[in-house]
Amino acid sequence: MKIGILALQGAFIEHEEIVRKLGATVIEIRQLSDLEEDIDGIILPGGESTAQGKLLKELGLLQVLKEIIQSGLPVMGVCAGLILLAEKLSNDTKQHLGTLPIKVKRNAYGRQLGSFSSQSIVKDIGTVPMTFIRAPYIEEVAPIVEVLAKVDEKIVGVCFQNQIGLSFHPELTNSFKVHHYFIELCKKNSLKNL
Ligand code: GLN
Repeated sequence: MKIGILALQGAFIEHEEIVRKLGATVIEIRQLSDLEEDIDGIILPGGESTAQGKLLKELGLLQVLKEIIQSGLPVMGVCAGLILLAEKLSNDTKQHLGTLPIKVKRNAYGRQLGSFSSQSIVKDIGTVPMTFIRAPYIEEVAPIVEVLAKVDEKIVGVCFQNQIGLSFHPELTNSFKVHHYFIELCKKNSLKNL
């Protein structure tokens, strides 16, 4: 299994460590040629979505990545990564990849109170610890989008076809459950395409 991890900005090292511990190979995505690797899935890490979106555009990665996601490659967007995937942002005029039919509110918990830990059930995975850092939450989902997790009535995890979007950082906890789930999804998808 080869998992591409967008490595332009933000918390990508933590994902790399977990993916390697789970026995998969990491391909850092930093430039267009990295997307020519035969990857089985992509992780979009947390960080600063405006900076990441700008870099994706400047490096000519945005459109290619969008097409790869639309063609069905499994992707997991975490926090800023979720914002990159969202079709609409309620408090920002930007749209980045726009492949996930949801409306997301950036910095939704307020800048000062933005960091906290919680735990909740994620559908098909079980109870997972969750770290939120200046996190977005999901305000609206299209009917075809499956809600995977809620914390305090707010949607913090969704799945739509090959796309998983999470408000929280699973890589900043000591649980590998979410990554394990994602890698299994990538395996199933690769088998399907054989
Ligand atoms: N607040 C950041 C943004 O809007 C996301 C924070 C994160 O990824 N932890 O991009």
